Amino acid sequence: MVVKAQLLARDRLSRRVSMADLVVAGGVVVFPEWGPLRVDLRASGGRVVEVGERLSPRGGEAVLDAAGRHVFPGFIDPHVHLGNANPFADDVATETRAAAVGGVTTLLTYVKVLRHRQGQVSYHEVLPEVTRAIGELASIDVGLHLALSTSQHIDEISQYQRLGINSFKFYMGYRDDPRALRRGSVGVDDGFILQAMRAIAAAGGGATALVHCENEDIARSLVARIPDPARATWADWAGTRPGLIEVEAIQRAGLLAREAGVPLYVVHLSSCEGLAAAREARTRASAPVHVEVSTHHLLLTSDRAAACEPPGLAKVSPPIREQASVDALWQAVADGTVDTVGSDHVAMAWERKQGSALEADPGFAALDAFAPLVLTEACRRRVPLERVARVCAGNSARIFRLRGKGTLAPGSDADLIVVNLDAPGRLDAARNQSSSRFSPYDGVPVTAQVEVTVLRGEVIARAGRVVAERRGRALHGAAAPA
Ligand SMILES: [Zn+2]
Repeated sequence: MVVKAQLLARDRLSRRVSMADLVVAGGVVVFPEWGPLRVDLRASGGRVVEVGERLSPRGGEAVLDAAGRHVFPGFIDPHVHLGNANPFADDVATETRAAAVGGVTTLLTYVKVLRHRQGQVSYHEVLPEVTRAIGELASIDVGLHLALSTSQHIDEISQYQRLGINSFKFYMGYRDDPRALRRGSVGVDDGFILQAMRAIAAAGGGATALVHCENEDIARSLVARIPDPARATWADWAGTRPGLIEVEAIQRAGLLAREAGVPLYVVHLSSCEGLAAAREARTRASAPVHVEVSTHHLLLTSDRAAACEPPGLAKVSPPIREQASVDALWQAVADGTVDTVGSDHVAMAWERKQGSALEADPGFAALDAFAPLVLTEACRRRVPLERVARVCAGNSARIFRLRGKGTLAPGSDADLIVVNLDAPGRLDAARNQSSSRFSPYDGVPVTAQVEVTVLRGEVIARAGRVVAERRGRALHGAAAPA
């Protein structure tokens, strides 16, 4: 009986290994650390085992022909909201498929306790079901950020870290906001944030404090001046969230993080004024200050957002900005000021976008087109490809301590995408793998297409279709405690 079990286990193991043995041949591999190199990759057992010129396949190894194509590390999306509007498990199943076709092989999702329980209980109560859903349903690898909102959460930071969770989120806005509570977002005050930041620093292990930087008091005072909320346009709503409210909040978060001595990660920085504030915070910081920008702040302008129907379609906080900020953010990607690019992806039903721009829910789906959008615009603006590999893969792996991720150097996970950078087409939201079949990017022309997505050596998506699903893992269980 024992022997039979061992044989079965060995059989399973050998099948898994042979599925994952392949040579990626003939392409230009874009390494975050070394830039583009015309080399082949050999993957075995789910890992990159060899990088070299003209590798010949050995017996049993499949060949992935990448001639005329670029090969990037699988993109890592550090900012995803699974379970924000739909049940968590449903989003894990559908949205990780969207990620796979969009060139993303690892995503980090926010876990918000109120989306799982009526009250703000310990994350120990909800993590088992979160982990199970990922293990059973995810088509790519998934890591977690926890949104902290109670003193119990603070007390348990080092326990969460021992589970391999290295990032904790704070909402400066959304205090006592019933609509935000529906999305599970609990605003916390500066006293709470400082206390939690000190606890993160005291726990050691290099965890990061993620802060949504917007001054809600100013935003609310501007909302109160909208004459007819039921008819608010996108521009009316966006006018309540000027760059000033981001600047003030970044300055405050920077001060608190410096005081606590904790790495600060500014999520979805959106404006040129915000960039200046983040650069300034860096000059005074006692620990790293990381900057994340969102795909929509890089790809959409206020003109396009204002033209969307219904008026809340492109609503997201902070709002889509004017062209000058879009240009400044790209410049900051190119010069290294920006560390990471995230999608801020939220899948939701079309009904939630109805009504005035003030009434519609913020957020929209973006994972299906993550790599095509970023690569198309990066190429148009002549941003070096290794810079893209850093902000879309390498830096997130480093900041969030995702072992084996974010590069294609020997020893890393064989997570990669084969991309055609000269394949003109148009995005079609009706073909989304996401449960959201609408998007402010619908109809946008792209020149980059993800042809193949590989997770740990196995092809999981090809030409916009998922060909192997539910191969993902929960990273927090696998990560070693710091
Ligand atoms: Zn977000």
